[in-house]
Amino acid sequence: MTVTIVDGIAPSIWDAAHDVDARRPRSRQTQLGASDTVCGRRAAYILHGTTPTDHPDKRAAILGTFIHHGLLESARTEYRWLVERSVQDHLIRGHVDVVQLDAATAARLPARHRPAIPADVLTVEDVKTKSTYLWDRVLRYGATAAELRQVQLYAGALSEVGFEDIPGQRYLARLGPLNIARIRFRFINRDSGAEHVQEIDFDPQRAAEAQWWVERVRETGSPEEMPRDFNGPGLDAICDYCPFRSLCWPGTAPGVPEQTALIRNDADREQALIDYVNGHELFSKGKRIKEFARKKLDRSPEGIYGPNKLSWGGGNDEEKDDVEAMVDLHEIAGIPVPMTPDANRMVKNLKDAGLPIPRRKTGKKTPAVINIAPA
Ligand code: SF4
Repeated sequence: MTVTIVDGIAPSIWDAAHDVDARRPRSRQTQLGASDTVCGRRAAYILHGTTPTDHPDKRAAILGTFIHHGLLESARTEYRWLVERSVQDHLIRGHVDVVQLDAATAARLPARHRPAIPADVLTVEDVKTKSTYLWDRVLRYGATAAELRQVQLYAGALSEVGFEDIPGQRYLARLGPLNIARIRFRFINRDSGAEHVQEIDFDPQRAAEAQWWVERVRETGSPEEMPRDFNGPGLDAICDYCPFRSLCWPGTAPGVPEQTALIRNDADREQALIDYVNGHELFSKGKRIKEFARKKLDRSPEGIYGPNKLSWGGGNDEEKDDVEAMVDLHEIAGIPVPMTPDANRMVKNLKDAGLPIPRRKTGKKTPAVINIAPA
């Protein structure tokens, strides 16, 4: 056990939290759980038993786990919903966050196991905690494709097999395949506590597509056969925090983007240039549309208009440092007024006097600037 001392005073509680997290089944598994299906390459590393190469900062994820656990436990004790129950089929094994039984299915269980609040139709729920940074995206777009895939896998296993037949939940396994009708996502804002619910009908076809995705991963001879689903470190946060980052994006010199390894020949280079030009055109077009709309909206009152809510910020008195008052305060307090030469002022003075501006090399290089023109 390693213990870090915070501010030279007391042991960091994060060391304890990391040790607890390392003992969680999810942290030690080599079998694919539905939550590992966020990226095909990452799922393949896990399935092939690859040892993680990177140990990113997990504090935000651990906080999410604590909140998640507390909320699910409350749903279990207060609503008697089925929480963190095991499911297993030929493809995945894991724990489904919540199953809210409908009254008809619940009637097949002993009375003490029936939900205090049954669903109108049998519902599989996934609880996700999100930061404020991602909240707008959650409200606008709902669950991501990877999140949908995860819950479809669990719902698919429940509808084909039912709950896993293990001690502690044999009474649930005896229900057999379940008549799943709905999938629910419950998003919780980690910073404000705001709650947002998204519901969709369960579609066996969507579950079959998610299962086909896992089958593709299982058929690979090595993880590298599976394409990367993200653009890599520095571009997608999931890669920055991926335990297989160094394996997935190996071998570049310090300061060189990992993505440069994807250019192996001139054909790759040609395609990347085409992508760059296409991306630039989309960006320019989007910028024009956005700027035009912004000008048009300049005098619009706040309110809800169709799918969007308009509000205005800013409009406060602008402030800047009062240099004269600061000099006075320095003199009153007996603090020496800094006399560092003002480079901007000197450049202006020299320019006004028609004199050359002296320059010297700093020993550093300016950043590379890409220029692309029609060939
Ligand atoms: S680094 Fe990114 S692309 Fe590679 S396995 Fe991890 S999440 Fe997937």
